[in-house]
Amino acid sequence: MGAMPTTFIAGEALITSAIMTLKEAQSTVDQWIKTYGVRYFSELTNMACLTEEVGELARVMARRYGDQSFKPGESTDPADEMADVLWVLLCLANQTGVDLTEAFRKNLEKKTRRDATRHLNNPKLNS
Ligand SMILES: [Mg+2]
Repeated sequence: MGAMPTTFIAGEALITSAIMTLKEAQSTVDQWIKTYGVRYFSELTNMACLTEEVGELARVMARRYGDQSFKPGESTDPADEMADVLWVLLCLANQTGVDLTEAFRKNLEKKTRRDATRHLNNPKLNS
């Protein structure tokens, strides 16, 4: 295994391990915005940007896994589009005071409580 890539922001190495927690991702985005972005776009602008990025991911998925074909020059990388979606979501979390680690844990607990047997008992998933 080769050396891990390191991302530098404002001269400081921020990402030096293979693992990045949600907390680190939120912090990295916040430092990037403060260094290069001047300030966060408004919450409503970022909500529109999130929708736009989800649409770009949908386009790649429709071309790659669906019936459509790529046009010349189009992005073909779902990973990059997923990262774009995550980026804007991290921005929205930061600017609305959401701790995504805590929110995700709570959400996982909710789903587990609610759906502990729902999918296991769904005959459509077992055929
Ligand atoms: Mg994109």
